[in-house]
Amino acid sequence: MSAPLPSTYASLGPFRDYFGGGLPVLMYHKLGPRPPGVRLKGLYIGEKLFDRQLAELRQAGYQSCDFDALAERSKPEPKRIGISFDDGYVNVLKYGLGPLKQHGFQALQYIVADNIGGGNDWDLPAGEAYEPLMDQAQIREWLAAGHLIGSHTCSHAKLPELSVEQAREEIGSSKKKLEDLFGVAIHHFCYPYGFWNERVRDLVIEAGYLTATTTQFGLNDAATSPFELRRIMARYQSWGLRSLRQRLFG
Ligand SMILES: [Zn+2]
Repeated sequence: MSAPLPSTYASLGPFRDYFGGGLPVLMYHKLGPRPPGVRLKGLYIGEKLFDRQLAELRQAGYQSCDFDALAERSKPEPKRIGISFDDGYVNVLKYGLGPLKQHGFQALQYIVADNIGGGNDWDLPAGEAYEPLMDQAQIREWLAAGHLIGSHTCSHAKLPELSVEQAREEIGSSKKKLEDLFGVAIHHFCYPYGFWNERVRDLVIEAGYLTATTTQFGLNDAATSPFELRRIMARYQSWGLRSLRQRLFG
């Protein structure tokens, strides 16, 4: 019997066969050292681990997927993978550009359009540590390195809780703002907190996006709606009870 699939991604090993069943899109947030006081520690991936993860994928023959092509609902090409980052942190630019370049991967960062050059304000009421977001010059540097940006709304909104007008504004204005600022087409959207419903999804379609990503675990294939794309959260390897047991008694 094969081991159960982990619910988060730390290394290719347990996912090797599974990834053959469709297109995986990895979901990252923050890279590099964790500042003191961080609550969700698993959202930080150290630079060395990130480098190892990309090296392993490259050695296994993986290449970045074409995010635009995900809208076509065609059968995914084998050995493609999507690499996505939520929120637009400076630490992704700082610790991610090198490994991405070294291993030849292209990544997509979802930007909170009204918080460019600011921070993760939406996290602070829950006691999360402050983490700076890229400013305009840093986003330009990210784009100049061959990477992509998408929209993560204007204010990291909980879209299903908003009126239709407010949700339309968050979804549509963030697209226009990013396009005006950076001169690139914004084709990709990411639901903050993974919160969406059919009404929200339809507003994303209406605004002219080609894809939207959720936080639902899974792979994507020709049957997956491009506005309900699944992702697998990347997380550092934690020694859970099972592996601790294996280390002690295995
Ligand atoms: Zn987010």
